[in-house]
Amino acid sequence: MIVSSSIVEIPPRSGTAFELKEGETLKVIDPEGGQVADLLAISREDKREIISSGRTLDYAETIYLTKGHNLYSNRSNVMLGIVEDTVGRHDFLLTPCSEATFRMCYENEPPHPGCHGNLYKALDRFDIEEDAIPVAFNCFMNVPVDGQSGKFKVSPPLSKAGDYISFVAQMDLIIGLTACSAPASNGGSFKPIHYTIG
Ligand SMILES: [Zn+2]
Repeated sequence: MIVSSSIVEIPPRSGTAFELKEGETLKVIDPEGGQVADLLAISREDKREIISSGRTLDYAETIYLTKGHNLYSNRSNVMLGIVEDTVGRHDFLLTPCSEATFRMCYENEPPHPGCHGNLYKALDRFDIEEDAIPVAFNCFMNVPVDGQSGKFKVSPPLSKAGDYISFVAQMDLIIGLTACSAPASNGGSFKPIHYTIG
């Protein structure tokens, strides 16, 4: 849904996919606050080259990525650079929520395809296979980790209404983007996500 001439809205608990050319800026906005957006990047040139949490965290030497960090592919090429970030807390550890997530973590919730299902559906027109979907960069997701025990929890996002994170593409990309469907990730309510390409 087009909200204005440049802002596109992803409705609650859904996802979309689009192309982002090298040099273009993708701005992911949390319009109401407290909402996670899962981001995937795939090389337009070769769809086997895909965003990699493991590579990225290895090179960044931190699990908390923000302005100045790069998101790498499984082939160690920079796919996206983070150029703006008004929140400073995102997650790159956990996989997109899925039908299995709901079965295993939310026994009292009705089943839902989750971000995984929404990403697969949106990316299908680019011939991306479901099993190729990796750990997504989870914009605004707040996963505090205890540095001693390694235990973590999923807390409500720190993002307030209008907060955003911007990425510049370092190669031609296919992007998958969601408004996350998991109750714990989003403080118990499901809101839309906005984005712009500039
Ligand atoms: Zn999700």
